Amino acid sequence: MIPSVLPTYSRAPLSFVKGEGSWLIEEDGRRFLDLGAGIAVNALGHANPALVSALTEQAGKLWHTSNLYQIPQQQALADKLVALSFADTVFFTNSGTESCELAVKMARKYFYEKGQPDRVEIITFSGSFHGRSSAGIAAAGSEKMTKGFGPLLPGFVHLDFGDHDALTAAITDTTAAILIEPVQGEGGIRPVPDQCLKGLRDLCDEHGILLIMDEVQCGVGRTGKLFAHEWSGITPDIMMVAKGIGGGFPLGAVLATEDAASGMTAGTHGSTYGGNPLGCAVGNAVIDIIGEPAFLAEVNRKGGLVRQKLEGLVASHPDVFESVRGSGLMLGLKCKATNSDVVAAGYKHEVITVPAADNVIRLLPPLTITDEEITEAVRRLDKAAGSLETA
Ligand SMILES: *Cc1c(COP(=O)(O)O)cnc(C)c1O
Repeated sequence: MIPSVLPTYSRAPLSFVKGEGSWLIEEDGRRFLDLGAGIAVNALGHANPALVSALTEQAGKLWHTSNLYQIPQQQALADKLVALSFADTVFFTNSGTESCELAVKMARKYFYEKGQPDRVEIITFSGSFHGRSSAGIAAAGSEKMTKGFGPLLPGFVHLDFGDHDALTAAITDTTAAILIEPVQGEGGIRPVPDQCLKGLRDLCDEHGILLIMDEVQCGVGRTGKLFAHEWSGITPDIMMVAKGIGGGFPLGAVLATEDAASGMTAGTHGSTYGGNPLGCAVGNAVIDIIGEPAFLAEVNRKGGLVRQKLEGLVASHPDVFESVRGSGLMLGLKCKATNSDVVAAGYKHEVITVPAADNVIRLLPPLTITDEEITEAVRRLDKAAGSLETA
């Protein structure tokens, strides 16, 4: 008999009933160090007092109106994001995949309005992840995500990650945009080198096409900059955001330049919930904290600390781990053992990590994790790895 919850996930036998900062408390009372943060969502930890008060204060006033009206909380959050990024304008969604939908629509509409309606193709890369909507799965293109779900949304060209020659050859007069994660998350914490991002920007400028970045996972402070592409010194035309921006409240956004967004006039797109007062009250609280340079400096410092400790972990468990990758607090451990076994061993030692492709485990802790918690987390990972060696 089919379970009452549609069984599209194979779930670990863990039920968390409470969260405190970097800790998750299981039904049976065990305290887990959370290096997953709900897959880079709980950027400020669990039950963060600033977010709890932003949410509860707004909840007592007004939850939802409609985008038919002015929403001051939405306006304030858009103003902040514009001030802190390349963007001139923002549309709020409820999730990463909805941000993907709009990014694709916006790019196509841009060329339609410029009198180039044949420019519809979007180039994407192997190992990418853009969510589970029809545009999201067609964009990523992997068999795992698309098999059985055809006909797929047409207009995506899939290239191998890092194949520069193929990229240059793939650009034609029907190309609208290049869509890329500056750091692949689901793909196994695979950063795109700064030089490559610069090269992509040049290529886009040369051919007059749009550069779309998916910062759903790597954005909002995760890599130690507010947005990961800032490390490279270049900017996209359109950017997808979600996960961390709501700190656990479902909130996403598409940020764009005035030019890239120029086709999106009244009536061309919408959302019932996107940018509602409750979500934006939380989003404002998140950005007020993470947008501070001192906060981001701390993410960098702690990222360096974790990385250094992880290098030691790899050295002491060469049969379990191979290498460390990533930046800031978006880190991956490439495993020699099977990554799901390493994650499961972590559960036994009360530390949460998240598997990714390429036999990697992801470490995406709350950005508020303390030095003591980092030390304890690595101690637990060390024990977990040790248990695999003796097994
Ligand atoms: C999680 C993720 C998405 C999809 O976000 P949802 O909120 O699950 O729809 C899209 N892109 C990237 C890079 C992601 O990590």
